[in-house]
Amino acid sequence: MSSPKTTSTGSSYGVQALPKIAYGRGSYLYDANGKRYLDGSGGPAVYCLGHAHPEVTEAVKAQLDRVAHGYRYLFTSDAVEELTEIIRLNTEGHFGNIVFVTSGSEAVESCLKIALQYHTARGEKSRRRFISRRRSWHGNTLGALSVSDFKTRREAFEGSLLDVSFVSSANTYRLPEGVNAEGLVTHLASELEEEILKIGADKVAAFIFEPVVGAAGGVVPAPAGYAKAVEAVCRRHGVLLISDEVMCGSGRTGTWRALAEDGVVPDIMSIAKGLAAGYQPLGAALYSDHVHETLMAAHGGAMTGHTFTGHTSACAAGVAVQKIVTRDRLLDRVLARGPILQQELRAALADVGEVGDVRGRGFFIGLEMVADPVSKEPFPAYASLHAAIGRRAFEAGLICYPCTGNVGGVAGDTVILAPPYNASEEELREIVSILSRAIRDSVAEARRAVAL
Ligand code: PMP
Repeated sequence: MSSPKTTSTGSSYGVQALPKIAYGRGSYLYDANGKRYLDGSGGPAVYCLGHAHPEVTEAVKAQLDRVAHGYRYLFTSDAVEELTEIIRLNTEGHFGNIVFVTSGSEAVESCLKIALQYHTARGEKSRRRFISRRRSWHGNTLGALSVSDFKTRREAFEGSLLDVSFVSSANTYRLPEGVNAEGLVTHLASELEEEILKIGADKVAAFIFEPVVGAAGGVVPAPAGYAKAVEAVCRRHGVLLISDEVMCGSGRTGTWRALAEDGVVPDIMSIAKGLAAGYQPLGAALYSDHVHETLMAAHGGAMTGHTFTGHTSACAAGVAVQKIVTRDRLLDRVLARGPILQQELRAALADVGEVGDVRGRGFFIGLEMVADPVSKEPFPAYASLHAAIGRRAFEAGLICYPCTGNVGGVAGDTVILAPPYNASEEELREIVSILSRAIRDSVAEARRAVAL
């Protein structure tokens, strides 16, 4: 029998023949040949409780034994109601209005639609335009892709995407020309405001951003004050604020929602990956009461949803995951241990000048490689350094998340770490050790390739 071809494209690992997954235990995955992989990035920042957690498995089995799915137009369920309440409490009471979906892209897509519906409901149908940021990733469905500035993933679809405006991302490592770190927030807030005014405020529906950029930047936390500043701009012009927390939310940064630390409550937000931790496909669009009331008054609720919206066993997985995260005080650990993990990475790689930046929040850490640490010039794209690091780590039994620099046409190489919140001390040390070896060897190889 010939082996099936993978249908996925654009993997930044460059792994040609994918090993077959066999099983997982805690922070480790095992392939069919018995090889063990430490999951240092929780796959793509998903598996926040590791693999085969017996309590989550049990909860999903118990739900499946009762019923897999109750269709949302006919039934509600304990799972949906309980998860709604958990999310409401975890978001300080702000987000009790939820559309449960089955992926991050669907969550973002729903957020965009809710924003459009909101303006329609208020009689401001001219507000159709979204503003997003350069070097951003919000998903693969057409709407979500439209608000994503990710060149390689967009280019086959250009011409059919929504007309979206892009402003600069908040990146303290790569400051815009002529702007210093102190002036960054003011600069970016002005840029956003100018863009709104250029389009005409009455035409702008929403501004969408990731509080901590994931796949499109290799973990780039916005500087303090940024979220507050863009919130103020949006409020001044009646533009809705959408926080995409698909990757950085659900506790990944050490607070349940990333923007909680900034004291900002967006109008709408998306979550997914850590919500059910990969035990079932689950995402959600959350919207605040004022949005909910507007939608209710005009249309009787949010006009979006799918067959599997509020999928009962997916929500049962979400309930189990969130209860364990709370019971085991895992966010306290993520908050306390994350900065130490960053320090350990910096120390282990102190002699590798090509590691230009180690940054992040909680258990969401990015490393950016540069050919020249002074000019921050990246390695040329043909050296494919990020893929080399990912591949070497994988061969050595560590899963990390290498990010292509070919985002928005900007070269660069980054690697994301997003370990399970319950990874042991020994496992965290092993991540540092394997990754630093993979980086060291790959940088040496890239140097040789560039010298040829
Ligand atoms: N938004 C962000 C911030 C993401 O990181 C991703 C996935 N990497 C998505 C949306 C899309 O999620 P999914 O792949 O589950 O559709």
